[in-house]
Amino acid sequence: MTDLKELYQDIIIDHGRHPRNFGACACANHVKEGFNPLCGDKVMLYVNTQQGIIENISFEGSGCAISMASASLMTEAVKGKSIENAQELFDSFHQLVTKAQVNPANAKLGKLAALAGVAEYPMRVKCATLAWHTLAAALNIQLN
Ligand code: ZN
Repeated sequence: MTDLKELYQDIIIDHGRHPRNFGACACANHVKEGFNPLCGDKVMLYVNTQQGIIENISFEGSGCAISMASASLMTEAVKGKSIENAQELFDSFHQLVTKAQVNPANAKLGKLAALAGVAEYPMRVKCATLAWHTLAAALNIQLN
């Protein structure tokens, strides 16, 4: 378990320092801003959907390492996926960070499981979910 925790920390540090899909995209047909007043995290999402598929997604923003890592991991996780798949991922991810009822290894969360530890820190949940709530607002996704 220690190895797994270290791996998770490495993923968060890596994505926090070197966020993937970072930058504005003129291709976006959905642009949405998100803000977490509890921590001061800001994110601006640029999403291009074509026939229900998230063809391209990128973000800009500033905030704590958790929020930036989560935004980076989110864009990687949903790029190329259908909006339906993105919604399922958001549902699983939300359960993971709020209730810790999801076994990270069993869920189809991939690297998103790196944020499982957030469930132990309720103050950080909004940091971890900011990018996802912003995506949901951009694409009219409802949490189950
Ligand atoms: Zn934060």
